[in-house]
Amino acid sequence: MTRTEKLLAELIALPSVNPAFASQGGASARQARLRYGEKQVADFLASVAARAGLELEFQKVLPGRSNVIARLRPRNKIRQTILLAPHLDTVGADDAQFVPRRKNGRLYGRGACDTKGSVAAMLTALSELAEAKSRPRETEIIFAGLIDEENAQAGSRALVASRLKADLALVGEPTRLRAVTAHKGSLWLQLETRGRAAHGATPQLGRNAVHEMARIVSWLETNYAAALRKRKHPLLGTGTVNAGQIHGGVQPNIVPDRCVLTIDRRTLPGETEAGVRREIMARLRARGLSAAMSSKKLAPCLPLETDPSLPLVRQFLRRTGQIRPVGVDFFCDAAVLSAGNIPSVVFGPGDIAQAHTADEWISLDSLERGRNLLFRFLTSLP
Ligand SMILES: [Zn+2]
Repeated sequence: MTRTEKLLAELIALPSVNPAFASQGGASARQARLRYGEKQVADFLASVAARAGLELEFQKVLPGRSNVIARLRPRNKIRQTILLAPHLDTVGADDAQFVPRRKNGRLYGRGACDTKGSVAAMLTALSELAEAKSRPRETEIIFAGLIDEENAQAGSRALVASRLKADLALVGEPTRLRAVTAHKGSLWLQLETRGRAAHGATPQLGRNAVHEMARIVSWLETNYAAALRKRKHPLLGTGTVNAGQIHGGVQPNIVPDRCVLTIDRRTLPGETEAGVRREIMARLRARGLSAAMSSKKLAPCLPLETDPSLPLVRQFLRRTGQIRPVGVDFFCDAAVLSAGNIPSVVFGPGDIAQAHTADEWISLDSLERGRNLLFRFLTSLP
């Protein structure tokens, strides 16, 4: 068993489900403490990093929830800083998924690919570098295990707020070891129509808010979706809209006076929340449709677009044997770090297709190659 695989198996056995996914009732306080939150994993990683001689710090973000930061300082003056930034939390799972299982060259368990695999590859590469005789003389390397990526990205937002400076962040997510420089953003927008209630026997006396919303849904899913398909980004394709959740009416014999729809709008680099809201409202008005709009996200999920011609990005691409960077559909911490002026590339072993599934796994070959690529890139730095 390699050092990376051993570390990953240990991480899977320490549940770190995001507390936002805590199920109500059932579990005792002790069970809940063992399952939810990143504390166990952060404490364990701190002990691993300390053994490798890395400098340690906990960055308190939320009650009982801290980012764990491990630093390798160069002997000479710091000329550049590389940040390795995977997240520590996972989505929920049943008990069996917290028991790592190895089968046919794969390691199964919650977080195997999203994103404890990246945690294991990044921290192992950095630990081995710290233990090696020759290592970068002028480059500082920081490992930051971040909390809360799966919910509101409180960890990466706190890291940016702490004014940490870095010249490149490698954000751990399962990208099949491809360097990703672009991903879409996500807006959850709520639309509300208002009508006038009346008896179900005399609907002509009321105004039906569900009917008005039905027209809006139809417009969003056909005309607006078609308009979005005309705007293409070279790495990401097009933005999308999904009318995902709707509530309206109280009972069949009352004309509904209120209907609420929540849409998920995936945005391209360059699109802003204010711009998207203006666009939708103006087009609805032009069709004689009326609704009020508000935002449903706790925090903005911006699109990511990192300039692939930045020297460190080019160097990383070369090391991973990639000619061109790629884009992905999923949102992650990279956008938050990037908005905080840290150029960010998403990179990690495993495939997003296995993330959040009932039998999450990672290929052990991908895991080991990830560690190797990271180690080679880090040792190549001045
Ligand atoms: Zn993830």
